[in-house]
Amino acid sequence: MQFLFNRLTVGKLSFLIWVLLALNSCKTKTSEEKTADDSSIKLVKSPSFNADSAYQFVQKQVDFGARVPNTTSHKLCGEYLVNTFKKYGLQVTEQAFIATTYDNKKLNARNIIGSFNPKASKRILLTSHWDSRPFSDADSVDKTKPVLAANDGASGVGVLLEIARTLSISGKNLDLGVDIIFFDAEDWGNSGEATDKFSGYCLGSQHWAANKHIPNYTAYFGVLLDMVGAKGATFPKEGYSVQLAESVVKQIWDIAGQLGYGDFFLDQRGSAITDDHVPVNETAKIPMVDIIHTQPNNLSQTFFEDWHTAHDNMDNIDPKL
Ligand SMILES: [Zn+2]
Repeated sequence: MQFLFNRLTVGKLSFLIWVLLALNSCKTKTSEEKTADDSSIKLVKSPSFNADSAYQFVQKQVDFGARVPNTTSHKLCGEYLVNTFKKYGLQVTEQAFIATTYDNKKLNARNIIGSFNPKASKRILLTSHWDSRPFSDADSVDKTKPVLAANDGASGVGVLLEIARTLSISGKNLDLGVDIIFFDAEDWGNSGEATDKFSGYCLGSQHWAANKHIPNYTAYFGVLLDMVGAKGATFPKEGYSVQLAESVVKQIWDIAGQLGYGDFFLDQRGSAITDDHVPVNETAKIPMVDIIHTQPNNLSQTFFEDWHTAHDNMDNIDPKL
């Protein structure tokens, strides 16, 4: 049950790290270095991963229960994320803020930022959201239960924690810095009538984009991971990413194809999803792509089956294709 998820995760992990290394520069010489047949891009050996570790990072978050802002589970999971960053030597910045939801609740929210190689001027930004949705409004039965959010939240954070771990081991000679931001309060949005452009979603990323943790902070490019762990995950090229960060999309999907991940990273345009990358592109002016699971060639059935239901749990991370 665990195996396929691990395999998929490892694939994406090594792919992402590869992108970091390759786009940084081709100066890094390794015994594995070679030139791709049909381009001048050099493949650089990526750090090795522990697949069980990636899976455990997801499990650990889910074990806290639903990480809904203003709950103990949320607070404790936040402490866990901070401590895990510290354990791997990342410099941690906690950006606390009060978020006002579309239904006028005040949330004690915090974006959690882990910086690897904080002094490097050339930087890459990797993000995911760490909060859980407070209601399972897409569920046919349990509409008021909070979402456990194994996939819609914890999966992306789990991949990024594994990247933090591997950076701490293998990233010492990297000539760049990596910032990992776990955005809070992404998922308290209104699924009914749109209340504003974001319909109450993406409160943490909107806050960060308007109040960067370092004044004038910028990054070479950014990648947002959202819902990356479900069975049969497919990643068409998300619409806003193509619109706002087209060259980054092209590079990532081209590289994924070259690495043999074309069955996951589909060479087709998907729906445009309002997600944390939108304020990062528009307000923070950093080109960021959203790697998000949507259904191929089916714009009406957008996300994975158990999206925003009481069934987005570890069982949903299913190895069976
Ligand atoms: Zn969601």
